[in-house]
Amino acid sequence: ESRRAAGCVLSALEAAERVVLANVEKLGRIDAIAGDGDHGIGMERGVTAAVEKARELEARDAGAGTLLTRAADAWADRAGGTSGALWGVALGALGTAIGDEHAPDAKRVSEGVRRALEGIIHFGKASPGDKTMVDALIPFHETLEREVEGGAELAQAWRKAAEAAHRAAEESAHLVPKIGRARPLAEKSVGTPDPGAISLALIVAAVGEVISK
Ligand code: ADP
Ligand code: MG
Ligand code: MG
Repeated sequence: ESRRAAGCVLSALEAAERVVLANVEKLGRIDAIAGDGDHGIGMERGVTAAVEKARELEARDAGAGTLLTRAADAWADRAGGTSGALWGVALGALGTAIGDEHAPDAKRVSEGVRRALEGIIHFGKASPGDKTMVDALIPFHETLEREVEGGAELAQAWRKAAEAAHRAAEESAHLVPKIGRARPLAEKSVGTPDPGAISLALIVAAVGEVISK
């Protein structure tokens, strides 16, 4: 039932908030190497606004899809910055795919993650290897889709996908940024992972722990 699903979405956003709050400084430090150093602060503002909005809607018995799309708007509005806008697009697409009618099953969630990835690429125009969050989200999506199509339960599939995202985020250290604020100082960024890829990997790992419960 979608009411219960809305509670799960809220728990997932709260898990995202916890992991972001625990990593604000680290994300800022990574972004300061070649970017402008605001990734930790931006993520904190965005995810906090999203959780606030989600709590408000859950108290009013909103469905899971509505809760997530409205939280996504709050995230983008409050975060500012490129990553805030992209998280807004991604979670909005995921929320639309989940909808309010059904309890979202693994297939629907996997489809929603595909839409989120498509939204980010459409909006941000990054290609694979440009050293952005896309480089963590592609392996996350591909692993999730493969596991779900192979019959895995959502919790198990999500955990594997989160591991793939983590590996990819770490490996982004080798890449040279081709887009975004880190581009002018691109060479300085080599040896440091992309901040947006790292925060995405942290968030999907934290959400995975909630799904498993
Ligand atoms: P800003 O770059 O506006 O200061 P943030 O510091 O919050 O915003 O986010 C930076 C992160 O956003 C980058 O590490 C990268 O992962 C992601 N990013 C930036 N531009 C794009 C883009 N065009 N497409 C996808 N991701 C992007
Ligand atoms: Mg920045
Ligand atoms: Mg900025």
